[in-house]
Amino acid sequence: MVVVMKERVTADQVEHVIAKLVEFGMDVHRSTGASRVVLGVVGSGKVDPRLIEMMDGVHEVLRITEPYKLASRTFKPEDTVISVGDLRIGGDEVIVMAGPCSAENEAQVNATAAAVKRAGAKVLRGGAFKPRSSPYSFQGLGEQGLRLLRTAADAQDLRLVTEVMDISQIEVIDRYADIFQVGARNMQNFTLLRELGRARKPVLLKRGISATIEEWLLSAEYVLAGGNTEVILCERGIRTFETATRNTLDISAIPIVKQLSHLPVFVDPSHGTGRRDKVAPMARAAVAAGADGLLIEVHCDPDHAMSDGAQSLFPGQFDRLMAELRIIAPAIGRSICLEPVARRGWAR
Ligand code: PEP
Ligand code: MN
Repeated sequence: MVVVMKERVTADQVEHVIAKLVEFGMDVHRSTGASRVVLGVVGSGKVDPRLIEMMDGVHEVLRITEPYKLASRTFKPEDTVISVGDLRIGGDEVIVMAGPCSAENEAQVNATAAAVKRAGAKVLRGGAFKPRSSPYSFQGLGEQGLRLLRTAADAQDLRLVTEVMDISQIEVIDRYADIFQVGARNMQNFTLLRELGRARKPVLLKRGISATIEEWLLSAEYVLAGGNTEVILCERGIRTFETATRNTLDISAIPIVKQLSHLPVFVDPSHGTGRRDKVAPMARAAVAAGADGLLIEVHCDPDHAMSDGAQSLFPGQFDRLMAELRIIAPAIGRSICLEPVARRGWAR
């Protein structure tokens, strides 16, 4: 349930209502909007809404009918904007996160980071702990990979997002990254989500391979209920009967989730298609459909990548895509990095 306080409420009145709700065994999450304080009330306790409605300073009490509460627009009507340094994720600017699937070596990480920066990306992506379908595939460089990614991100003044697969990795990743990525295979790893609820850094939560939108939002709810309000949702394709693409990218999820939730919605067209030649069209579609950002695999030498080479863009392709997005974003009232660092001709 949501308790909407009156516009001119006193701090005492708010504290009083919170104390009453806590007395009934509820957890209370406060959100201070432009004009009102709103209390999100969750938990397994029982409370009669009419009792709360009678209290001083309360404007109205609403039931949240969705099974997720803190992730819903009913709890928080205005968009969530997440600050990472001077970056604002979920605001007017479409934010592009780009980089290799995996950190492989210093030269590869540095060259790719420089390329995505030049084209206008704001966040470097790259995996150091990799969730691979086969135990015999490259599993990532671990902490050494994190070190390479952090150094390259700093050198290019980029923020860093990287995947956390297990609670045992949170501490080390926290030392290097700005954003925790939770992969599709871990969307329902509830112990991990709960632990990330205690983190003080944003979590980019991929949609599970066969997850419904409701299940995805319930996973976000785990992080939010733990006290971490900074969740970025990322559509990355779901498994369907179609085999022409690696996954089926659900573009319609963007406007649907934007309506149901206040959280920023990103799209990963790389895993969404699995094919380099289909990444740009789907990235364009995602921005046109209202995505707040993109997560894209780019590699300085995709043909020799240790993971996901077939879906990784060449730097020149990424550069062209960014130029196209600079035309699309303003058409729907958004901006995107307007100033590529330098214009140059790429070989491919
Ligand atoms: C990735 O981003 O490299 C990745 C493994 O993504 P997903 O969890 O969506 O498969
Ligand atoms: Mn990948």
